[in-house]
Amino acid sequence: MVLPPGSIVGILGGGQLGRMMALAAARLGYKCHILDPHESPCAAEVSAHFTRAAYDDVDALRRFAEQCDVVTYEFENIPVEPLAVLGDKLAPSTRSLEVAQDRAAEKRFLESCGARVAPWREVDGAPDIEAALEALGSPILLKSRRYGYDGKGQAWAHRADEAAAAWDAIGRQPAVAEARMSFDAEFSLILARGSNGETSAFPPTRNLHDGGILRTSTVPAGPEIDAMTGLAIAAAKAIEEALGHVGVLTVEFFACADGPIINEIAPRVHNSGHWTIEGAQTSQFEQHLRAILGLPLGAATLVSSGATMQNLIGADVDRWAEFVAEPRAHLHVYGKGEARSGRKMGHVTRLNLPK
Ligand code: AMP
Repeated sequence: MVLPPGSIVGILGGGQLGRMMALAAARLGYKCHILDPHESPCAAEVSAHFTRAAYDDVDALRRFAEQCDVVTYEFENIPVEPLAVLGDKLAPSTRSLEVAQDRAAEKRFLESCGARVAPWREVDGAPDIEAALEALGSPILLKSRRYGYDGKGQAWAHRADEAAAAWDAIGRQPAVAEARMSFDAEFSLILARGSNGETSAFPPTRNLHDGGILRTSTVPAGPEIDAMTGLAIAAAKAIEEALGHVGVLTVEFFACADGPIINEIAPRVHNSGHWTIEGAQTSQFEQHLRAILGLPLGAATLVSSGATMQNLIGADVDRWAEFVAEPRAHLHVYGKGEARSGRKMGHVTRLNLPK
């Protein structure tokens, strides 16, 4: 079904991803309706409608669904069961959400798709950490199964006598343990899939993290990563097919000497794709909207010889005057209020000179 301009797009979550999606929707003549439990989420500021409600408030979700023509989400830590009231208005479906919000389910699913992931074990207590060290070698990285993002809920363990402390460090919650991967670089692939099965991938993006938080994303990603593009696209397509995913899916990879290994997937637009706003023919936000609205996908090619996106984290955003004075810098400030340490407050994209 094609939803024409004037239709209402519901977005679960009112953070910066929702905000940039709402801006892209407005340009095409669509209106957005944000549902978020916070008082003034930054996406609501640029959207036509806002419902303040908890994600598990079934009555609020039912009313929200009645007021929207399609509903999507901008983050994956949403309880799945209450979303049943959204019916088939939800895209991507709850299947994509279920898989992406539990690291153990995600790894099992990825393996069933034939994708490579880091060797891993399930962890439900300190003894499992000792067993994982035995099985996977030292060190291992513990990651909570749920609600982890930007390196939160993660701890390294090197020796069996660190097991109890590592279990405490991740908050004594169900987790996975991963072998430490040695990789040359990290990259992500953002792939859109329409309800007719049409797919379109943006060029792979090289990502630099610090303290578990993305700092910069660069395209082209460099020859070692570009050489893995075919394998990465094939893996991402297989994942989307298996999920019946409609919308944008992001796959994060480690570029290892023997090929790409998947770190994790996100069933949504992604921080590493912000450069597409100015750097690609179609932005990841517009592409996601096109997919869920039943429109043809746009071209996902570069408009210049490359681009770099730099995140403004915490107090970085105080340097806005410096960035806005740089003639070729595209400054985005999310309007999120307090610049707490580690909080993503904005980003800057710089395009390389045209070819
Ligand atoms: P994640 O929250 O899973 O994206 O992990 C955050 C960051 O930690 C990644 O971007 C990597 O830089 C690093 N990391 C995650 N898993 C591993 C691993 N198995 N081996 C080495 N580094 C890792």
